[in-house]
Amino acid sequence: MSTIVIGAGPAGLAAARKLTRYGEDVVVLEAQPHIGGRTRTVRDRLRHGQPADLGGSFIDIGQDKIIQACAELGLRLTPQMALFPPDPDGRLTAASPLRATLVVDGRRLDDAERDRVADEVRAALDAVPPSPTETIPAWAARACLSPVARRVFCSQAGFNPVHEAAQIPMSMLQPPHVGRVCWMLADGTDSLASALAGGLDIRLRQPVRLVRRARGGLVLETDTDRFTARDVVVATPVTPTLRIGFDPVLPEWKVNALLATPMAQGGKVIGQYTNGSEIVGRLGLSAVSDGPVSLIWARPPGPEDTVVVLGLVPDRGDGVLRDEARALDALDRLVGAATGLRAERLAGIAQDWTREQFAGGVVSALLGDFPRLPSLLAQAVGPVHFAGEHTAEMWATGMDGALRSGERAADEVFQRRRQRASNTAAVR
Ligand SMILES: Cc1cc2nc3c(=O)[nH]c(=O)nc-3n(C[C@H](O)[C@H](O)[C@H](O)COP(=O)(O)OP(=O)(O)OC[C@H]3O[C@@H](n4cnc5c(N)ncnc54)[C@H](O)[C@@H]3O)c2cc1C
Repeated sequence: MSTIVIGAGPAGLAAARKLTRYGEDVVVLEAQPHIGGRTRTVRDRLRHGQPADLGGSFIDIGQDKIIQACAELGLRLTPQMALFPPDPDGRLTAASPLRATLVVDGRRLDDAERDRVADEVRAALDAVPPSPTETIPAWAARACLSPVARRVFCSQAGFNPVHEAAQIPMSMLQPPHVGRVCWMLADGTDSLASALAGGLDIRLRQPVRLVRRARGGLVLETDTDRFTARDVVVATPVTPTLRIGFDPVLPEWKVNALLATPMAQGGKVIGQYTNGSEIVGRLGLSAVSDGPVSLIWARPPGPEDTVVVLGLVPDRGDGVLRDEARALDALDRLVGAATGLRAERLAGIAQDWTREQFAGGVVSALLGDFPRLPSLLAQAVGPVHFAGEHTAEMWATGMDGALRSGERAADEVFQRRRQRASNTAAVR
């Protein structure tokens, strides 16, 4: 075969699809027994076959690549939603998420308390403009936020990306990049991967351990098989990429770029509750909390008035995600506090991405040296090309960035082919 793509997440599938359109012979090697990577959806854990999106959920306004892909592939989106209301002057700022339902210390703040906190943060943003590289708690301290405002403001680090506040720069929050206007995939996030995979040759349970140059091309070794190719697209997340052996070894600049891109840690907790319409009515757009579950939102109510509520859980080293019952209990308490209802949970799931060997975490945290880092992460090393959300010049960390990166890597392979063909013609 002419090209092997490693990883059947959105990036790898987008690369394989485009290469196939170019007429390339492509095989995708996927470590897991399923495709989709961090966009995985399960359908057998909730009642009525309701989808549970374990990873990616939202498509944001401006993410034109994924919106276009959904249109082309005939994928339905949920009705348009917003996660947070804007500030009273109509602007969306890092204070806006605090205008959603706010649960502090297990108690929902009433509207006046909540507005006071949000107004305090907004006034501080105007009076003490954050530096883009300043971390969230560093700015909160410099802006002299009150203890309660500091606490809820820092909890925002828990949802984009899911991580520790001290490792997120203010540029991630101000202005908010996500949640202004967004959609979800109506039939579950993995419907994107399933549609992209149509007609591709994908081999499951084939974790690539070694990529070795040999005469005339590359040899890839998995636990059970050996494949040869002229080019390879490595479309694996940062940490799993660092586990693949390369012979010859990757150059120092590439390894350093990967090492400088840690992955955020944590996961998701998902519960299905009765009284869906009432929960959705009382919850509003979303709820932000300083507890173990930092942000919750609901899918539109489903059969028999059930609702699926999804929550992001940063890995704060407290082991919540490793204990499903504990994680679901934390979700129940937050849903209860946010809605004032004693929510009856019918089913639930906790997904810990930190412990997923072939994910290595939630998303890349492109903390330093932006935008030089993505371009180094994206740069090919001879016939070894790189894709994945972390390599995207635009919308890195998200599904849109992943699709862009896959298409970019496919173009690179195609260019190399043309170059080789013209070199051969010139020699003749
Ligand atoms: C909890 C959570 C919430 C998120 N929320 C959003 C959101 O709301 N909106 C959004 O746009 N994005 C979101 N994301 C991010 C989104 O899921 C990723 O950006 C996207 O999945 C990245 O695609 P990818 O193809 O780069 O990587 P992945 O989806 O991780 O795919 C990589 C694939 O490579 C495979 N692999 C790894 N190592 C090997 C190996 N050695 N051999 C073979 N195969 C291998 C993996 O099994 C996987 O299938 C979220 C992610 C998580 C975890």
